[in-house]
Parts: sequence; C-alpha cells; structure tokens
Amino acid sequence: MLENVRVVLVGTSHSGNIGSAARAMKTMGISDLCLVAPEAEIDGKSVALSAGASDVLGGTTIVSELSEAVSDCQLVIGASARSRTLDWPMVDGREAGVKLANEARDAKVAIVFGRENSGLNNAELQQCHFHVCVPANPEYSSLNLAMAVQLLCYEVRMAYLDLQNTHPEAAPEAYPHADDLERFYQHFEQSIADSGFIIKPHPGKVMEKIRRMFNRIRMEKQELNVMRGILTAFDKHISKPEK
Ligand code: SAH
Repeated sequence: MLENVRVVLVGTSHSGNIGSAARAMKTMGISDLCLVAPEAEIDGKSVALSAGASDVLGGTTIVSELSEAVSDCQLVIGASARSRTLDWPMVDGREAGVKLANEARDAKVAIVFGRENSGLNNAELQQCHFHVCVPANPEYSSLNLAMAVQLLCYEVRMAYLDLQNTHPEAAPEAYPHADDLERFYQHFEQSIADSGFIIKPHPGKVMEKIRRMFNRIRMEKQELNVMRGILTAFDKHISKPEK
C-alpha cells in the first residue's frame, strides 16, 4: 500500500534537500520519489544527506511537468506553506494522511511539494484535489522542504498503521486518474469556447472556477464518462465560431 504513495518535489533547488527528503520518506516506508524540473541534480550532497536511503534516490524518476508526475494518480494533494493561496479545498496534515492512506489501498496517490523559494504556482496548485497546510507559527510558517516531507509522510504512515489495525472499510469508489481529468477539462474548455461562452485568448477565470467545482465534487470514473458523453453530444450541435 505505501508503495502507491508518491512524493513529488517540484523545482527543487538544493541537492541536499533531495537527499534529506529521500531519508524522510524511507524512515516512513515510502519510496516512490519523483522530481519535476529540478533545478539541482542528485549529487554527492544528496547522497550524503540521504544517509542510508540512496536506494530511494536511485529509483527517482525525473519529469518536466507536474502533470506527467501525477498522470496515473487518483488523488493528488499539494503541500503549501500559505493556507489560502487559492480558494481551494483544504485539509490538515492528519486528514491528508487518512485520505492518502485510504486511497493508496487500491490506487496511486501523490503528495506534491513546492520550490524552496516560491512554493507551487497557481497552475500547479490547481492540479491538486486538496491543499494541505501544516498550521505552523503564523509569523514563521515556512518549513524546510525535507521537514515538510517528513511530517506529511509521518501522517500517511500513522493513517496506514491505523488501517492495518482496524477492519478495512469498503474500498473507495474508483476515481479517474489525473490525466483523464485533464483531458476532460481540455474538452470542456474547447466546447465552451466553440459555443462562444468564452473567447479563447481571454477566458477569464471561468476554467479556474470550473476546475474548483469539479474538484469539490470529485467525480467518479463513471460520472466523468457521462460528462464526456454529454459534451460530445453538445459538440455536434455547436456551430463553431468563425476563426
Ligand atoms: N517560500 C515558499 C515556501 C517554500 S518551502 C512559499 O512561500 O510558498 C518548500 C515547500 O515545503 C513548500 O512549497 C511546501 O510544499 C512545503 N511546506 C513548507 N512549509 C509548509 C507548511 N507549513 N505546510 C505545508 N507545506 C509546507
């Protein structure tokens, strides 16, 4: 189950943090590490700080976009030092741990961490179902990256141990993977552009609101298929605006 939990580090700029994050993960039994467009390479400093966790570093995957890192994940939770960067569903660390452990029983899940200097940008935050913020000292709330990884992996582990001790609930409904949702949003945007509801170069905040709404609902796979079918049916009746 813990093998279904992926830690995603976006744009990390200190190689030592990559090593410390790997160590934090391994102590909690988590080993799937993915780097998105890292600014630092895995080097001697990473290996030194990973202590005995160089196997986690060795298995690291590197991709260029967050969407690639989470494409096969059913649940994506983004860690943010600021509690309300966007108006998005928020969970605390404990709730994040429970959600991740629960869904990792039969699907891939991811926790996403941002850059040391600027965190995650809005486009990245919008790819997450939930945001998690560790309610630290409001006057000094930004944790070191690897320490944030440690705290949240600990919460996943605690929730996982809890699940092992209790009777497992029914498996959660099958939710679509992030890449299926992304295709749905693109289809939706195209259809409402073709209908004339938005004008592609000036879409305003419509898609952000739509994403937020569907995030809140968390459609199941079957529901997503129905929505795609409805859009396709509507598409046939839309006369495309003149280019
Ligand atoms: N200066 C950045 C903070 C970067 S810290 C900013 O203002 O956003 C690097 C990463 O560690 C963050 O992007 C986040 O993923 C994680 N992190 C740090 N402090 C956190 C906190 N209090 N709660 C949740 N995640 C945190």
